[in-house]
Amino acid sequence: MKKPSPNRFTLGYVAILGATLALAILAGWTAVAAAIDDYAYDWMFRLHPPAATSPHCLILAIDDATFSAMGGVAAYRAMLAKALELLAPVQPKVVAIDMVLADKEDAAEDARLLHAMQATKNLVLVAHLQGGRWENPLDEFRRAATALGHDRADELSRDGVTRQIPLEERTEQERHWALALETFRLARGQRILESPDDLQIGSEVIPAPRTPDSDRALRVLFSREPVPRISLLELVDKPELAERFRGQAVFVGVTSISATYDRVATPNGQGRIPGVEVHAQLFETLERGQFLTNASNLAVLGFCIVVGILAGLIFAFLSGWLAYTTAGVMLLAAHATPFLLFRAGLVFPFFAPLASAWLTAIAAASYQHFVVRRALRASETERHRYQQAIHFVTHEMRTPLTAIQGSSELMGRYNLSEEKRKQIAEMINVESKRLARMIQTFLDVERLSDGEMELKREPFEVREIVGTCLGRVLPLAERKNIRILTRELDGNLEGDRELMEYAVYNLLNNAVKYSPADTQITVACRLVAVGKDAAQLRLSVEDQGIGMDAKELRQIFQKFYRTKRAEASGVAGTGIGLSIVEQIVHHHGGKMEVISQPGQGSCFTVVFAARSRASQPPAVSV
Ligand code: ADP
Repeated sequence: MKKPSPNRFTLGYVAILGATLALAILAGWTAVAAAIDDYAYDWMFRLHPPAATSPHCLILAIDDATFSAMGGVAAYRAMLAKALELLAPVQPKVVAIDMVLADKEDAAEDARLLHAMQATKNLVLVAHLQGGRWENPLDEFRRAATALGHDRADELSRDGVTRQIPLEERTEQERHWALALETFRLARGQRILESPDDLQIGSEVIPAPRTPDSDRALRVLFSREPVPRISLLELVDKPELAERFRGQAVFVGVTSISATYDRVATPNGQGRIPGVEVHAQLFETLERGQFLTNASNLAVLGFCIVVGILAGLIFAFLSGWLAYTTAGVMLLAAHATPFLLFRAGLVFPFFAPLASAWLTAIAAASYQHFVVRRALRASETERHRYQQAIHFVTHEMRTPLTAIQGSSELMGRYNLSEEKRKQIAEMINVESKRLARMIQTFLDVERLSDGEMELKREPFEVREIVGTCLGRVLPLAERKNIRILTRELDGNLEGDRELMEYAVYNLLNNAVKYSPADTQITVACRLVAVGKDAAQLRLSVEDQGIGMDAKELRQIFQKFYRTKRAEASGVAGTGIGLSIVEQIVHHHGGKMEVISQPGQGSCFTVVFAARSRASQPPAVSV
């Protein structure tokens, strides 16, 4: 059996790990993965909430009590006018009104509101993007405002939870910054400087890159404590409360549950908060100056690849519990990484890195397990094969060794004539050479089948090797009174003479072994034409022995197979000879053909391809 090359194993290993990694990374793009990433984000957000800071803005809330005391939902413009009138004397730094004021309503009230707006310094109004069109405030309101800001909040998320807000919203014609951003830059008294990767307001750099799927989205660091809120009704009742708004950024908006559906879910998971609170929270996030940024796709991809490579290396170089423990540590590290990075302000996805770590570790472990088991099985088979081979060698060696042993004993024990001594010495010489040849043949066949040896390529005549083999087999045949007939012995071969000799000798020896006394064996070698140009060189050994049935015929070239008939005859050997013959013939480019019937004899033919006699040079190249 050939050992699988280490290169193929490495290639297979790398291919499987690569495919698993690709699968894990691709899975990271699915909706399920995104939902899990969001869930993990919210979980980390709650586990590691933003540190509490003193608030930088205030909300002037139009709540349920305000609505019921000041004329209901329809009177909101009058309420706004009242709010601005109350704020005017204390000069807040910025006033952002989170209400869409796009329609004309009661003329007197609109005029009053406009008047109040004109008296307000740094007024920010809402531009609302609806179905691809901007709903802007009435022109006169717009003229009174210092800036317009968009009021989008939760549209970016799949599950309605607002985790981030686009700082910029654009249509073909018009672009607006977020309401909170406009408020922030007015509070700072600075302009917005933009680059593809961030925005700069004074010394503050806001990491909000413009990407294909979001317009400068910024994660909001929702604090657990709500932004301080004063209800308009309270302010109306106690005008001295206005002092609290002096020099502050103020967000004016509806907080009433019954009057508006503008309520937003946050990662804090503590119920929904009004839209105006979300804008105020974004403002606080900007004021805080510490931001959560998303890890770049490249960084995530790099992390996944490193994790995959690590898993591969762990199972390639370590084994047993050490490999599993190290892989466990790696998995733990992969689980902890997103959380540690989150604490450092970097939002790292959960799914793709974890899927990469788990899947590659499982794939690597299974592959190595499979490979180790295969290697173990291979070495088992190898060991078994070797045991049998040793058995064969020792068995085959016994005959020449017995001859050598017996002869040398004869020489030592008796006073032999010079001629007899010479004869015995000659025999010892011949048998020991045969022994050496046998060992050589065995080793050669082993190395040939392991692909470690190149076949010798020398030309020789079939007649020659048949002659040599007959010389060795004749004494045995004579003992059983078996006649060996030789017919035409044409043809030349090219290859390893010793090996071919071994093959032919084996066939002859078997023919003698498995034939009863007083029978006949025929050896012939013929060039037979097949078709127009082709021919075959067919070397056959035919006996009149015990024969074999079809089922036995199919197995005789297997190592260590012996037919029941042969075993019963008491002369069967190890059952390995024919398997070696077949290997030798195969390595010479030939094939074996056998015809046999139980009790009717057998004919073993070695077949080589040759050119037809017409165009034939005498040698057959194999
Ligand atoms: P061995 O002869 O040492 O047992 P081989 O591999 O040479 O091993 O042969 C395998 C088996 O094939 C033999 O045991 C015998 O059963 C069968 N066999 C081989 N040659 C002949 C033959 N000429 N006639 C009948 N049976 C044969």
